[in-house]
Amino acid sequence: MKTKARILLKDIFGYDEFRPFQEDIIHSVLEKNDTLAIMPTGGGKSICYQIPATIFDGLTLVISPLISLMKDQVDQLKEYKIPAVMLNSSLGLEEYHENFSLVKNGWAKLLYLAPESLIKNDIVNLLSSLKIDCIAIDEAHCISEWGHDFRPEYRQLADFRARFPGAACIATTATATERVRKDISASLRFRDPKIYIASFNRSNLLFQVTPKQHTFIQLMEFLKKFPGQSGIIYCFSRNGVDDIARRLKSYGYSVLPYHAGLQDSDRKINQELFIRDEVQIVVATIAFGMGIHKSNIRFVVHYDLPKSLESYYQETGRAGRDGLMAHCLLLYSYSDVRKIKYFIDQKEDPKDRASAETHLRALINYAENNSCRRVPLLEYFGEKYGNAHCGMCDNCLTPPSFKDDITKEARMFLSCIKRVNEKFGMTHIVDVLRGSESQKITGFGHHKISTYGIGRDYSKKQWMHIARQFIRNGLVIQDEDNYGILKITESGYEAMLGKIQIKGAFIEDKPDAYDGKDNGESGYDSGLFEILRKERKRLADEGGVPPYVVFSDKTLAEMAAYYPHHRSTMLDMHGVGINKYDTYGEIFIKLITDHCKSRGICEKIKQGITKRKTGQIYKYKKIGDLYNEGLSISEIMKTEGTKLQTILAHLYDYILNGYAIKPDGLAPYMTLQAGDEKIIMEAFDKTGTERMRPFYDLFEGKIDYATLNVYRLKFLCGQGNDDITPRTAPRHCPG
Ligand code: ADP
Ligand code: ZN
Repeated sequence: MKTKARILLKDIFGYDEFRPFQEDIIHSVLEKNDTLAIMPTGGGKSICYQIPATIFDGLTLVISPLISLMKDQVDQLKEYKIPAVMLNSSLGLEEYHENFSLVKNGWAKLLYLAPESLIKNDIVNLLSSLKIDCIAIDEAHCISEWGHDFRPEYRQLADFRARFPGAACIATTATATERVRKDISASLRFRDPKIYIASFNRSNLLFQVTPKQHTFIQLMEFLKKFPGQSGIIYCFSRNGVDDIARRLKSYGYSVLPYHAGLQDSDRKINQELFIRDEVQIVVATIAFGMGIHKSNIRFVVHYDLPKSLESYYQETGRAGRDGLMAHCLLLYSYSDVRKIKYFIDQKEDPKDRASAETHLRALINYAENNSCRRVPLLEYFGEKYGNAHCGMCDNCLTPPSFKDDITKEARMFLSCIKRVNEKFGMTHIVDVLRGSESQKITGFGHHKISTYGIGRDYSKKQWMHIARQFIRNGLVIQDEDNYGILKITESGYEAMLGKIQIKGAFIEDKPDAYDGKDNGESGYDSGLFEILRKERKRLADEGGVPPYVVFSDKTLAEMAAYYPHHRSTMLDMHGVGINKYDTYGEIFIKLITDHCKSRGICEKIKQGITKRKTGQIYKYKKIGDLYNEGLSISEIMKTEGTKLQTILAHLYDYILNGYAIKPDGLAPYMTLQAGDEKIIMEAFDKTGTERMRPFYDLFEGKIDYATLNVYRLKFLCGQGNDDITPRTAPRHCPG
């Protein structure tokens, strides 16, 4: 069973390896256990019931809370040519009836339903007439009142599933809290459930926290790194959303707003345009995101502080579902913290207040932490992060430096803030310290105060760098709502009076080390990537599906790195399964070969294929296809790094598996005299080709195994026309 799942993973989905727990979960479902699968967003939960669904004889029901989620999955499954339909209120009457009969007549392997449909008469009757092998409950935390998305209709699922005792039941969620987990299991009346909890670490997400300064300019600087790429900007309020969206638009960005204040239809349109890559950026409140499965979101910016670390994790989790790197930036300011504190203080119940304060502290702890960001983030979910250094957060990439004593500078800076009565921003303070003669300074009479000109030893840039560290370690607060004026905190006063020592760095060591982080396949051909991306968009529009459903960014990045020219090498690309190949493979190969031809670029073989666990199963297929596509045996030996004997053995397997090969490529290795050849061919005819030892002995070891194998292939080629029929027609069919 396990092997079957692996074969399906590669053949249908085009993936080489299972992610942690996927295979165990699939196995558990196939054994009809009650199964609870807890994995982060993008962790790959759907495959855990989709693969069993294709193996079971009967139907798999998938209960999902949102129509958009159902539609997304059904679209994807259609691309994989897995028979799946949904029945819900979004369908027209005709389509509903059509889907209904596709389920009734046994065509559909998966049926997606909303929980409220389960009590509808037609559905009840339909289901009672069918063999149901599996019930998958997606977003299972909706069953729990402790979760963030309680849906009363989920409560009836326990009774519902009890009506199908022969069906496996799998509940999936990305909610990690113990309480919700237990509640799911109890509410569904699971008996001895198998529970799988994957790590919540999303290693492809780069986390960065930057103190707000000129926030909008910081945002624009950040966006420069993502020309044309999809991303979300989260803001605290609807007004904030409208404002940022409008300003970005005025700078020519492709951007739309999304919040609960918009009309339903506008929200729907804006979301759809984003999903279809028609619009690059969505500026949104937290209303946006649930039900978005777009896999190529390359960045998530929090323009304002999120509600809690849990919501931060969820919101950033929408980035990088395809496994390629995605960048999560939190723009942090203490005045945002104050805003939240204000809301907390309004709460009447002291218990609520205390709990909200705990949440806020965890968030502050994350944002003000000087070491790896993943440690507090994962700790929040009860997970200990093993590495102290992830290499994918700002603190790991550019560790804050504490090598210099900046106490004296802190005292100068803080005194200066005090002298101007805490009414000015950072640039002004630095100008005063550096003795600027600008009109603004003289206008306020700040050239007369005692700190004027005492900081001339440092350049303006250096001072700004030093001053930012004072914000970071909490000596001053920058009031974003009030022109960014600086205020001294309690510890700031202590520093000003020389009571504490301040460590930091005079000079910025490595500005923006993350700029250089490569995205996935390092050094992929960005020109080709663009060509492929355009084609993907065209095909997606033609098929009425989102582009990422055709191929993910990761798949395109691999194509643009390895330039596959053939069916076999195209099938090596991440996310290219057999059925997707049939639909799109040749179109993409044509674009790639055209691109390569004019530039003299050759195809590169993806390394590591042979080492894969599933590799051996397909290796013969790959070798056979390459051979049939006209590569000589010696060329295959070179590109695959394999010995002659191994290639011959693979070709033998290829034939045994029902494929044909053309004999021409064997000619260079046919070295026997005509007489010997005749003897050996007759012997094959008499005794079969399974065992080679008798033939080796027949010639007393004078003919080596490789040569014997070559003649065995020739023998089978000769027979080919009668009893070996190719299963698929290779692109260059043997003559
Ligand atoms: P979620 O857990 O959020 O429901 P999905 O099931 O949508 O996640 O999977 C997220 C993405 O990861 C999808 O594009 C899916 O095809 C991909 N994926 C799932 N399993 C694997 C795997 N074993 N190897 C590579 N990609 C995978
Ligand atoms: Zn880190």
